[in-house]
Amino acid sequence: MLRVTEIFCSIQRESTHAGRPCTFVRLTGCPMRCTWCDSEYTFTGGEHISIDEVMRQVRDFGCGLVEVTGGEPLAQREAFTLISRLCDDGYEVLIETGGYVSTADVDPRAKIILDIKCPDSGEAERNHWANLELLRPDRDEVKFVIASRSDWDFTLKIISDYDLENRALAILISPAWGAIDLQELAKWITGSGLRVRMQLQLHKYIWGPDVHGV
Ligand code: SF4
Repeated sequence: MLRVTEIFCSIQRESTHAGRPCTFVRLTGCPMRCTWCDSEYTFTGGEHISIDEVMRQVRDFGCGLVEVTGGEPLAQREAFTLISRLCDDGYEVLIETGGYVSTADVDPRAKIILDIKCPDSGEAERNHWANLELLRPDRDEVKFVIASRSDWDFTLKIISDYDLENRALAILISPAWGAIDLQELAKWITGSGLRVRMQLQLHKYIWGPDVHGV
């Protein structure tokens, strides 16, 4: 059984897949508490659903792209089985993970979007750094949420220390909602000369910042 907050079909919003139709399986619970978290509604509640039932609901949406997200999806051991089942059925599978849990046992057919927590999140100490060694340059992406200049300086250091330009398919730079001037961040990015990609949280521009399940 899995503890599930919601399953819905929408537009992928936070990766190089942004804009594509995507079914989201949002699992309940997260061991972290990022200061700017916009998914606090996933920390509690949820419904216990069998993997077979999750598969049935995903099938009903008829979408070839599926994202397993949270909360922290990998905090539930059964999530690894769900990911393999989705891959077995031929779905293109994305995993959006906060970077606290090891990705070593994730089915290699899935594509990982790995958050690297910056200092302003309050959770940088809990990054599982070994995950960066497991990135595959043909499919996996890393994401930094930036809330300040010091977050950006931290990002530059981690990109350099871990050679992320060569390790990851994409390095996503995402402004924390309402925390930072977008034009300022764009200037830092263009001035960096790095192979990074600024991204906005597409769903918040379409449906508003506080709506979920769409
Ligand atoms: S890892 Fe994600 S879900 Fe968990 S607290 Fe941080 S932003 Fe929220």
